[in-house]
Formats: sequence, structure tokens, C-alpha cells
Amino acid sequence: MHALLLSALLAGLGWRLRALTAGAAATAILIGTIILAATGWAGMAALGAFFVGSSAIGRVAPDHTAARGAKGQQRDPWQVLANGGPAALGALLPEAGLWLVTASLAAAAADTWATATGGWSRRPPRNIVTGALVPPGTSGGVTWPGSLGGTVGAWSVGAAVALFAPEWRSLLIAALGIGVAGMLLDSLLGATLQGRFRCDGCGQDTERPVHRCGQMARRTGGLPWLTNDGVNALATGAAAGLGWVAWRMLGPGSAP
Ligand SMILES: [Zn+2]
Repeated sequence: MHALLLSALLAGLGWRLRALTAGAAATAILIGTIILAATGWAGMAALGAFFVGSSAIGRVAPDHTAARGAKGQQRDPWQVLANGGPAALGALLPEAGLWLVTASLAAAAADTWATATGGWSRRPPRNIVTGALVPPGTSGGVTWPGSLGGTVGAWSVGAAVALFAPEWRSLLIAALGIGVAGMLLDSLLGATLQGRFRCDGCGQDTERPVHRCGQMARRTGGLPWLTNDGVNALATGAAAGLGWVAWRMLGPGSAP
């Protein structure tokens, strides 16, 4: 019951601050309740650090993505699910739950922080695969400020968990390593498999099959159904899996 109340309070705040749409706030309440009920305060600290940190850095950093037709600062239910869904599922795993939550949310935070802090880069991003310069906000594009910011984001989730968990050293290492790995995987998938489109009417590249002008865009690469949210979900899901591996290797039961 406390889990539900606290999640509702946080999500309501996010909605009031326009960080979340109403549907996203409802989704966040569900995810928060599951994580707090299954993993306690340590898991809730990870979720709080992800949510507060990501919202704050998104407000502080210059937004170069708005011009590219990204979804903007207010998160919708799909974005919330892509970031927090694997963590909520992972939380339900007995014993290892906190490790999956920490790893998955560290990856979600790393990606969100990297996108925001990449706005501070004075040079345009480079495609992580080809090295070609791409416009700011392009999926698969990386910058040094973004990678550094993403690392701080992963650390922030691990540090929050460390305050509440006895095995805090191992969890902090796992959050940092897996968070950064998840961020790299996100960029790799974004540069290769994510659907890429072009609106011939406006002469603009877009990440959506329907351009914001309303016209159907032509596919220029990637899988047409794999959106940015899909790539996020794959990366946070893979990070949850790595969290389980880390629990097997470093967790309480792993001591020789
Ligand atoms: Zn258009």
C-alpha cells in the first residue's frame, strides 16, 4: 500500500511538472509499485534516481533534438515502458531482482543522460558505426559530452542503490559497467537496425514512418517497425539480463 501511495505521489509530481503525460504517469505508478513492493527501498532509490536525474538533466541541458521532430521533454507511456518495463519485470525475479532493476535502470539513465548532455557538444555527433557526422538528436550518433554524461547517469543510479544495499560495492560496479554497455548497445542498434525514414515533401530525415507534417515518409534504412522506443526497450532488457549475470558473478551467493 505504501508502495502504491509513494509511486502515485512521484508520478503525480512528474505529471504536474509536465515531465510525464497522464498515461505515462499511470504507467509509472504501476512500474514504481512493482519495483518498491518487490525490491524495497533500494530498488525504489534506483527508480527515483533515474526519474529525478533524467528529468533534471533534460531541463538543464540545451535541447537540440526538438528541431528533429523527436517527442520532446514530456514522456509518453511507451517511453516509460521502454525505460522501466524491463526493470519492473526483472524486479519480480527472486533474490536477483534488485540487480536486474539496478542494471536496467542504469542503462535507461545512461541513455537519457547521454541524449541530454550531448546537447553541450560543440561538434555534431558522429555515427557510432560509420564515424560520419550526423545532425544532433540522430539515433546512433555519439559525442564525448554525451558519453561522459551517460556514464554519470549510470553512476547516479548505482550510487542511489548503494545507499540502501549491503552489497553496495558490487552493485555500484555493476550499474556503472552495465549502464555504459547498455548505452553503447542503444547507440549501435540506433545506428543499424532502427528504422530510418525520409519525408520527400519536406526533404527531411525522420525516425518515424509518418513525418510530423502528416505525410508518409519513405524508408531509407533499418527495420521499419523498430522505433527509438523499441531500441530503448531492447537495450534496457539486455541490461537486465546482464544484471542477472552480474548477480551470479558478484552477488551474495557467489562468494567462494
Ligand atoms: Zn514532411
